Amino acid sequence: MSSVLKKDRFKLPDGVIYLDGNSLGPMPKTVPARLASVMNEEWAEMLIRGWNKAGWMAQPTEVGTSVGRLIGAAAGSVVMGDTLSVKVYQALAAGVKMRPDRRVILSDTGNFPSDLYMAEGLVGLLGQGYELRTVAPEDVAAAISDDVAVVLLTEVDYRTGRLHDMKKLTALAHGAGAVMVWDLAHSAGAIPVDLAASNCEFAVGCTYKYLNGGPGAPAFIYVRPDLADDVEPALSGWLGHDSPFDFALNYLPGKGIERMRVGTPPVLQMAALEEAMKVWDDIDMGALRSASLELQEQFIAEIEHAVPQLTLASPREAKMRGSQVSFRFEHGYAAMQALIDRGVIGDFRAPDIMRFGFTPLYLDTADVSAAVAVIKDVMTNALWDEDKYKVRSRVT
Ligand SMILES: *Cc1c(COP(=O)(O)O)cnc(C)c1O
Repeated sequence: MSSVLKKDRFKLPDGVIYLDGNSLGPMPKTVPARLASVMNEEWAEMLIRGWNKAGWMAQPTEVGTSVGRLIGAAAGSVVMGDTLSVKVYQALAAGVKMRPDRRVILSDTGNFPSDLYMAEGLVGLLGQGYELRTVAPEDVAAAISDDVAVVLLTEVDYRTGRLHDMKKLTALAHGAGAVMVWDLAHSAGAIPVDLAASNCEFAVGCTYKYLNGGPGAPAFIYVRPDLADDVEPALSGWLGHDSPFDFALNYLPGKGIERMRVGTPPVLQMAALEEAMKVWDDIDMGALRSASLELQEQFIAEIEHAVPQLTLASPREAKMRGSQVSFRFEHGYAAMQALIDRGVIGDFRAPDIMRFGFTPLYLDTADVSAAVAVIKDVMTNALWDEDKYKVRSRVT
C-alpha cells in the first residue's frame, strides 16, 4: 500500500492486529541484540569506562537530534531524559520564569491529566497567586489573554485524536505575550511536526508511543535555539551543570540544551531507543501521514457500515485528527477486553472511549479489514457481555 510499510522490522506476535502503537509501540527486531551488546560488551567489559568509551554520556543529545529530525527541530535543540511528566514540569517552570509579571498557566480540559497535575504541582509550589486555568479545547484561542504567562497544550488529544492548530495557537500565544509549550506525546512519529516553523519556545514528548522506544523509554524536551542559553532550569541536577565533574558547590547551568538534563541517563533504555530510531532513517513524514489517514478513513468507513453500535468520538474531518480513531460505546471497557482476547489490541479511556491507533510502519489495509471483522463479530453477537471482561485491570 505505501512506501512507509516496514512490517518486517518489527516483532509482532502471531495472530495480533496491533492498534495500540499510540500507547506502547512494538519492538523493532534489532533491539534485543543491541541491548545484549550494550550489556555484554559495554556494561560488563567496560564498566565505568563505558561513559566515555561507549559514549553513554553523549547519548541524550545525540538521540535527541535523531528525534528532532522527525519534529522539525534543529540538531542540538532536543535532549532526552526522565519521563514526559518531568519534562512538562521543566518546560512550564522555565516558561513562567520568562514572564515574571504574569501568574497564569493556560491549558485545556482535553489535556492529558499528568500534564495538568504537573502544572497544579508547580502552581502550588510557586504560590503567590499563580493559577492553572483550564478551558474547553475549542475555547483555547479565545482564552489566550495578556495575563497568561504560559500556554500548555497537547497537540493531539489522547482521547479523541483531535488536533490543535499548532501554528495558529502559537501565534496567538505570542501575540498576547505568552510563552508556548507543546506536548507532542501523540505527535512525534505520528504526524508531521515543524517546531522551527511554529516558533514555539518549548516542546516535550515521549518515545515509547509512536517512536517504539520501549516501556519506560526516556522523554524529550526541545528549547528554541535562541533561548537555550538563557532558560533557567528548575530541576538543576548535576548533569545539567556546565561542568559536572568540577563538582562545584553551586549550580551553573550548562550550555544550550544540555542544561535541560537532570541526572544520570538510563543507558539501557536510551540504547533501545537509539536502535528503534533507526527504523525512521528513510521515512518521509508526509508519506507516513497520507498512509495513516488512508488507514483511518478505511477504518471509520468500515466500522460505520458494519458496526452501528459504535459512535465516532474523533473528528470526522481527516485533517483534524492525529493518528488515532476513537469510538464511544457504553460498555467500551468490556468490549475492548473481548477484542484483545481475540487478538485485536486497542485500549480504553474512561468513561466510554475505545481507542485505536494507526501506525503505517506496521499496519496495512488488510489488517484494518481483519480488525473490523473481529470488532463486528464482538459487537453484533455481544461477545463482550461476560463477567470476565468487566473486571478492570490496573492499566486500561
Ligand atoms: C502519554 C502521555 C504522558 C505520559 O507521561 P509519562 O511521564 O511519560 O508517564 C504525559 N502527557 C501526555 C500528553 C501523554 O500523552
